[in-house]
Amino acid sequence: MIYLDNAATTAVDPEVREALLPYLTDEYGNPNSIYELGRRARRAVERSRETVAAYLKADPSEIIFTGGGSEADNLAIKGVASVLRDKGRHIITSTIEHHAVLHACKALERDGFRVTYLPVDEHGLVSPEALREALADDTILVTIMHANNEIGTVEPIEELGALCRERGVLFHTDAVQSFGKLPLDVKALPVDLLAASAHKFHGPKGVGFLWVRRGLRLHPLIDGGGQERGLRSGTENVAGIVGLGRAVELLSQQGAADAERTSALGRRLMSAIPERVPHVIVTGHPDQRLHNIASFCIRFIEGEAILLGLDAEGICASSGSACTSGSLEPSHVLLALGLPHEIAHGSLRLSLGRENTEAEIDQVLEVLPKVVARLREMSPLWTDARRRGEV
Ligand SMILES: *Cc1c(COP(=O)(O)O)cnc(C)c1O
Repeated sequence: MIYLDNAATTAVDPEVREALLPYLTDEYGNPNSIYELGRRARRAVERSRETVAAYLKADPSEIIFTGGGSEADNLAIKGVASVLRDKGRHIITSTIEHHAVLHACKALERDGFRVTYLPVDEHGLVSPEALREALADDTILVTIMHANNEIGTVEPIEELGALCRERGVLFHTDAVQSFGKLPLDVKALPVDLLAASAHKFHGPKGVGFLWVRRGLRLHPLIDGGGQERGLRSGTENVAGIVGLGRAVELLSQQGAADAERTSALGRRLMSAIPERVPHVIVTGHPDQRLHNIASFCIRFIEGEAILLGLDAEGICASSGSACTSGSLEPSHVLLALGLPHEIAHGSLRLSLGRENTEAEIDQVLEVLPKVVARLREMSPLWTDARRRGEV
């Protein structure tokens, strides 16, 4: 099997599995208990918190562990909105956010907030000028992702955050895709909240965190025993948090080298595929992107059919985001780039991770042209284009 869907999830690193397993077996203590078994669990949780904080150049008290990236985004957006609702009810985001952000904003619209969805250019970039114009007197929060999960485009969060700071508006960024791939120093960045998720960087699923700048007040999504400084009640997912911590340690040791290698593989796919397959569009920004995400639209065929064709050859890939596959609507991200429905339907995303090799890329470059040619032979869109002399 060749796994090229690392933007959807990644394999748990064997070292992460090793680190977390004791907390699923003998070390089952509740970190809130006062006897030694509980205290050991508490120490493990706090060690992970320190590891994450050090990696971001943050303070450990600023890290809130959550049940993943979606929860961290929801906590940031709804938590700020709830605290500041009497100060203002305007929020700004972009049209290409992950559904965790978009649907959290939609929920707030039903609750009386006004949301501006900033458009993007054909490469998926949000314009700082557009943000400047959208900022209003009652804007309380801007939430723009660091890197897009479908097309890899990296947003200019330094500039966007600086504009927010000038106006005294909080800035949240969904860094689920960029965490571990791009340097993130929250001391230097004009960001107030930042979300990440362990399973996108070779950690376990169902655990992530929100970094919250010190002094910033939030209301929790989950009330209860008051864990995580009252911001996320519920007994901690100790094994998950330990796994997340180990995954971050691996990032500090090898993250930069991994990112360089997976970027080289992604660059190779983005240059070689359009050479070998006619009528292919590379989506996303040519330079300002995560190069481990190679994204395309392959004209005259359906993305879903490409995925099945690749699956039959043992290759795991994706079309649009995992959340939208199975629906007939093309991805909201590709439509936001201005691509027509017909082209957006032919989307293919190949996303690389730590384990991928040069030989696997050779194999994909061998197989994909054949899969596409076979599908086009059966495609009425291709037949029509041929009749019109377009291909
Ligand atoms: C995967 C992803 C999320 C959601 O994270 P989960 O841990 O799966 O809830 C949010 N934003 C982006 C950009 C993602 O890629």
